[in-house]
Amino acid sequence: MSNLDYDVVVIGAGAGGLFTAARLAHEGRRVLVVERLDKVGGRASTTVVDGFKVNDGAIVIEVGGITEQTFNELGIPWEIREPTPPILYRIKGKDVDVTGGGWGFMLSKLTRSGAKLVSGLGAARNDSGLPEDEISTDEWVRKYTKNEGVRGIFRNMSASIFAVSSTDLPARVFLTYFTRKSAFKRFGFHPEGTIGVWQQLADNVQANGGEIWREASVDRILTEGGRVTGVELERDGQRVTVSAPVVISNVGPAATLGLVGREHLPADYVAQIEKGDRPCAMIAINFASEKRLVEAPGMLSFASTRRMAYVANFTDTCPEMSPPGWNLYVATSVPEPAIGDFDEAAEIELLREDLRENFPGFDDDVRELSINITRDDWPPQRAVAGFDMPHDTPIEGLWNVGDGVKEYANGGTTACAETAQIVTGKVLEHLAAHAG
Ligand SMILES: Cc1cc2nc3c(=O)[nH]c(=O)nc-3n(C[C@H](O)[C@H](O)[C@H](O)COP(=O)(O)OP(=O)(O)OC[C@H]3O[C@@H](n4cnc5c(N)ncnc54)[C@H](O)[C@@H]3O)c2cc1C
Repeated sequence: MSNLDYDVVVIGAGAGGLFTAARLAHEGRRVLVVERLDKVGGRASTTVVDGFKVNDGAIVIEVGGITEQTFNELGIPWEIREPTPPILYRIKGKDVDVTGGGWGFMLSKLTRSGAKLVSGLGAARNDSGLPEDEISTDEWVRKYTKNEGVRGIFRNMSASIFAVSSTDLPARVFLTYFTRKSAFKRFGFHPEGTIGVWQQLADNVQANGGEIWREASVDRILTEGGRVTGVELERDGQRVTVSAPVVISNVGPAATLGLVGREHLPADYVAQIEKGDRPCAMIAINFASEKRLVEAPGMLSFASTRRMAYVANFTDTCPEMSPPGWNLYVATSVPEPAIGDFDEAAEIELLREDLRENFPGFDDDVRELSINITRDDWPPQRAVAGFDMPHDTPIEGLWNVGDGVKEYANGGTTACAETAQIVTGKVLEHLAAHAG
């Protein structure tokens, strides 16, 4: 081992870890990223299945938001390809493009009484118009309409963006997101699969002198007198101790507790994290077909499904993700309940039924590549939006990043990029204050 002394150790090469590592390496800090798996990207990585680049989790990356801004700041080429239009909604059997028409246009396709709901959305632009936290998104919608298609659209939007049903998502989160955030209005796919985004960030970390150790697992965060001093890990069958005044954990606040040891942390902090650790779940069926099944060039969402939130068509924008002549798709659902235990076999079958109903001949035309069930300690979001945990910890020099510590009303990889930006600012201040 050469240099076992770094400014910062980042545990985990997921989105949050790599955004942070890249920012810190760009600022000239000596950074080591330690990743348990043999590839980067964590829950947003990609696996090659029979020549198809199949995403393990995240599929779309927001365009025009903090991810693109971070790439620009770091001088990394932006390779995300945007479908036009980004999303169509299947409403009463027709695939409708609502781009430019907004909520009013979409709701008018579903119900004659959409205007009331549009005015509710308008009112939410003022803080006084935001509902209390206790009201779920579904309850809020039902105040305005009983229309099942409208409820379905809101359910599937909650599922697509926040990985929970509209019955689990506070209306305040949904409305804050759509009235105050960039709200995934523009997005696209990476031609290498989503892993391409993280590989670009990892290459940038290394180009700026940082190191990335794959297949190395941290099993202890070392502390002394309430301060971080480094980590202990296993690499190539060897025990290794790395010293650093800053440790960034990308493994989620609950797993971080285990690495630090609960006995080194105040009881109220431990209780707060244990309460906030409510991972949700998602099911994705990755499939391919020689026949074109989906006319939407990007995403297709639905007003009336049992579970299916969306189908994504990768091939129009990223044909290199499949062998020639094949179309690559993914269909995704949030099970019921989205938080807690659920019947996997029954939930997969409900998603398949939605696929058969929406794509006649589905069973004959498609080749199923994989079914990914993400839940428990490998969830689509480590904390339900609106119930996030803090990125600060009671240990000096230790911060969490990633989707367990999102800022209010944010989700997915965009939220990870935001946690990285905020925590990087704090780390740089900390290192400057303790320099020399
Ligand atoms: C089906 C599905 C669809 C999704 N769709 C989207 C989408 O379209 N767009 C979007 O933006 N988001 C989407 N998401 C959410 C997105 O994938 C996550 O929010 C994001 O990837 C979380 O990243 P993270 O940095 O918080 O953590 P992780 O990805 O969990 O990264 C943590 C890393 O730490 C490593 N690790 C764990 N323990 C250790 C240890 N002890 N030592 C070393 N390494 C360790 C893990 O192997 C992992 O690589 C989706 C998620 C799922 C599951």
